[in-house]
Amino acid sequence: MSEQVERIKCLIIGSGPAGYTAAIYASRADLKPVLYTGMEPGGQLTTTTEVDNFPGYPEGVDGPTMMVQLQQQAERFGTEVRIGMVTSVALSTEYGGIHEVTVDNSKIIEAESIVISTGATAKYLGLPSEQRLRGGGVSACAVCDGFFFKGQDVAIVGGGDTAAEEATYLANICKSVTMLVRKDHMRASKAMQHRVNSAENLVVKYNTEVDEVLGEQVVEGLRMVNNQTREKEEIAIAGLFIAIGHKPNTDIFKGQVEMDDTGYIITDGKSTKTNIPGVFASGDVQDKEYRQAITAAGTGCMAALDAERYLASVASRETVEA
Ligand code: NDP
Repeated sequence: MSEQVERIKCLIIGSGPAGYTAAIYASRADLKPVLYTGMEPGGQLTTTTEVDNFPGYPEGVDGPTMMVQLQQQAERFGTEVRIGMVTSVALSTEYGGIHEVTVDNSKIIEAESIVISTGATAKYLGLPSEQRLRGGGVSACAVCDGFFFKGQDVAIVGGGDTAAEEATYLANICKSVTMLVRKDHMRASKAMQHRVNSAENLVVKYNTEVDEVLGEQVVEGLRMVNNQTREKEEIAIAGLFIAIGHKPNTDIFKGQVEMDDTGYIITDGKSTKTNIPGVFASGDVQDKEYRQAITAAGTGCMAALDAERYLASVASRETVEA
């Protein structure tokens, strides 16, 4: 292990819209932030094609371009963006305490404040055909990509609130939606199930799973299998949405930062404060409900403002005590 230790005011972990927005605000507040990108620089948006719902882009923008622009904007104000993975943390529970963070299992950073923006990863089924057609009609975000299938036939997998919500969203814009639920009932709330059952162009197939996604370059169809009878059925579709849950990227904070039972970081009221003084959480890592680039960016802004206020209050207390 190397001996290099670096002391900084504000460390931002993660390079999605939340992390970069926190970086823009923190650098403009002269906190001289250092941002570590993680394994997937740019986050989930780099796996999206067109982003049409982020305000300020009347013609839309492709995800990777938007993330490069966000990085450039953060760097313009002095954020230091580094490629690297935070591998462990030792957080101080003291007000004004210093948090020790290890990057790539070697470099040690001492941070006065931390913004956690490590996001969440969409779960996929794991079929080779599904992986091959990601970006070619297979998506894990109906709100992001549903529009591209306007007036076409699509299918969605999952029986939770996300699947139910996205299925009804798709039913409003697509010609037909086939919803595959692996059990004989949905896990979604009764209210959401009612919305699903009220949509005329939405068919729910219970006890049904994906056997194969059909198509070479783009999705052309779906082979489904009834997991009770093993009977298979093929339908023609242009888009397949996977809505079987997300996994928040919080493993390195377990046992230190307070989380709910699914691993999402708990923040205090409307703020981005975690249970650890000086540690803030923004974006999908603390939001299982909205999960949009714009809401992530909004909470990234809040986290930087919360960090700035925290550091100012620590400094003023130190001045009074001196
Ligand atoms: P959930 O974990 O609640 O549901 C996942 C769904 O996907 C389940 O139906 C599950 O089936 C199914 N599933 C999991 N793995 C597979 C697989 N390999 N093949 C087929 N199906 C699979 O995730 P959600 O994203 O729906 O919701 C996460 C949380 O966010 C929940 O607490 C939810 O209530 C909340 N939420 C709330 C919203 C709201 O209030 N407006 C909107 C969206 C989410 P099974 O049931 O068989 O395990």
